[in-house]
Amino acid sequence: MGDIIKLLPDHVANQIAAGEVVQRPASVVKELLENAIDAGATSIKLIIKNGGKTLIQVVDDGLGMSETDARLSFERHATSKITKAEDLFQLSTKGFRGEALASIAAIAHVEMQTKLEGAELGTHLKIEGSKLIFQEVSAVPKGTSMAVKNLFFNIPARRNFLKSDTVEMRHITDEFHRVALAHPQIAFHYYVNGSELFGLPVGNLRQRIVHVFGSKANQKLVPVTEDTKVVKVSGFINKPAFAKKSRGEQFFFVNNRFIKSPYLHHAVGSAFEGLVKPDTHPGYFLYLEVDPGSIDINIHPTKTEVKFDDEHTLYAILRSAVKHSLGQFQVVPSIDFEADPNLETPYAYKNKGAELPKVTVDAGFNPFLEAKSGGATTKSYRNVSKPNNDQQAWEGLYVGLESKMGTHDNFSSLQFESDTITGSIFDGQSEPIESTAKTFQLRRKYIVTTIKSGMVVIDQSRAHQRVLYEKFLRNSTVKQAVSQQLLFPLSLSFTKADVRALKGIKDTLNAVGFVFDTMEEEAVSVSGVPLLVTESEVGMVLDQLIADCQQEVTDANFSQTDILSKTLAKTLAVKTGEVLENASQLALVNDLFACKEPLVSPFNKPVYVTITENEIDKKFI
Ligand code: ADP
Ligand code: MG
Repeated sequence: MGDIIKLLPDHVANQIAAGEVVQRPASVVKELLENAIDAGATSIKLIIKNGGKTLIQVVDDGLGMSETDARLSFERHATSKITKAEDLFQLSTKGFRGEALASIAAIAHVEMQTKLEGAELGTHLKIEGSKLIFQEVSAVPKGTSMAVKNLFFNIPARRNFLKSDTVEMRHITDEFHRVALAHPQIAFHYYVNGSELFGLPVGNLRQRIVHVFGSKANQKLVPVTEDTKVVKVSGFINKPAFAKKSRGEQFFFVNNRFIKSPYLHHAVGSAFEGLVKPDTHPGYFLYLEVDPGSIDINIHPTKTEVKFDDEHTLYAILRSAVKHSLGQFQVVPSIDFEADPNLETPYAYKNKGAELPKVTVDAGFNPFLEAKSGGATTKSYRNVSKPNNDQQAWEGLYVGLESKMGTHDNFSSLQFESDTITGSIFDGQSEPIESTAKTFQLRRKYIVTTIKSGMVVIDQSRAHQRVLYEKFLRNSTVKQAVSQQLLFPLSLSFTKADVRALKGIKDTLNAVGFVFDTMEEEAVSVSGVPLLVTESEVGMVLDQLIADCQQEVTDANFSQTDILSKTLAKTLAVKTGEVLENASQLALVNDLFACKEPLVSPFNKPVYVTITENEIDKKFI
């Protein structure tokens, strides 16, 4: 056999390299924004259509390129940023590999217009799949405009792999946030499908954060500063009271480059220890300046990890800097997790001023069943003081009540039919809980009760999740969801991105009973909530919903209703550690075994175990 090794043609090599550089539209956004910054732009426009699948355009007022450079910039290893290997260790620019443009041009249609400062005319060129379509002299403004269209047009497998526009948009917006937060001295404008999502004027860091995250952000910020030989730390942390369910607002920048560092994240987290509720995440915007020679920015183009020479010292400095700020600004602990839950005000009611009186309506209220209902409704297994039935104004506060009653009837009659629970307890084979069954709560975590053949131990939180989950699913299939109207619409502030996320799932939110009066840029007005959600929980629930929808689980065929129902169930369910009264325990057990799938929680965890008399007997031998 003769020689068989061939050199790959350039366009093929570029396509392969592109796979590394460009994973999704957001990667293109990152590269183009970084190039614009490296070009010394003072104002940058980002224009996106259809989640970046149709168009990603970045327009800057930077240096621009000469005619020759314009063409050269699309060659592999074409860069103006390093000339020798040593330069790598003193990098102050974002790019250096000279790979981005070549890669992007290999897998998309790229149109560039560029002009050097002072030049009369500039260059206009078009490249499709590494092939130059045309290049001409043209009257264009100073700076550079790069339009990337039809990403992955020649790699169908990759194109099909892209997520929904909403998901891709979120990645792009994340990228935009990172770049915008690292460069408050540059003005940014961000347009999505023709409308402006962000207009960020030049300002200081605090102003930039407020412009990105909304006017409410200002009051949350606590400055952090620390100047040592090893590192200079600056930026802000959010006050612990504003810790969120989502990890959205956590940013590290090293030498003005966004990085991810679980290790440093841990340092900040440990400074906040005891100040935030478990499961919530404090926000931070921390900027570290170190000697460029002391870090190793991973050579991989899209990596956001860095390696520090002296990580341990950095950890200690960061932790103490954050602690110091928390102390200095008298952000003192306000939550005692060890406190007896019996004496505790529910968390959601904490730090709230006097509230307007509100009218709550009992969802399952059916006058004919009243005597049997035993006081505990499906919602409130909790011992939180609740309005009595007789003070509930149930007239006129429902929307779509009729359709609701229709489907709910069976359920509530099943629930309260008798003291005996008739739901099936062993996969189809029905074993009723004894009519004389007593329940008791074990370690504020499990409900124990008896069945004919022995006993059942039920995880209270998972059981309630299951009950709520099925309830929400059921409600959302009713055409006009049952909604509890609020006496006064609730105005809640969010970031622009969060409002966008909410808009994206608005239909589903309506389906489960949320009613929005208005959705503005940074605020929404809520006039109706699902029956099982109380007014004080609305903000928290929506927060959690946004966080969950931000997870990657949102692939093409996910069901929003399902995610929503799961989130609502998780958020609203009684938790481990909550004391349940006897009536509540029984009601919960009742409701659980009226469920379609009592055996597993919505998150596929076991809800209860049974221990037969036989098994117990064996232990006594
Ligand atoms: P790198 O940024 O790693 O150098 P790129 O492929 O991203 O590689 O860009 C190649 C070169 O094209 C850059 O080094 C720069 O000289 C030039 N370039 C790219 N974008 C711009 C821009 N917006 N303005 C001016 N020059 C640019
Ligand atoms: Mg670059």
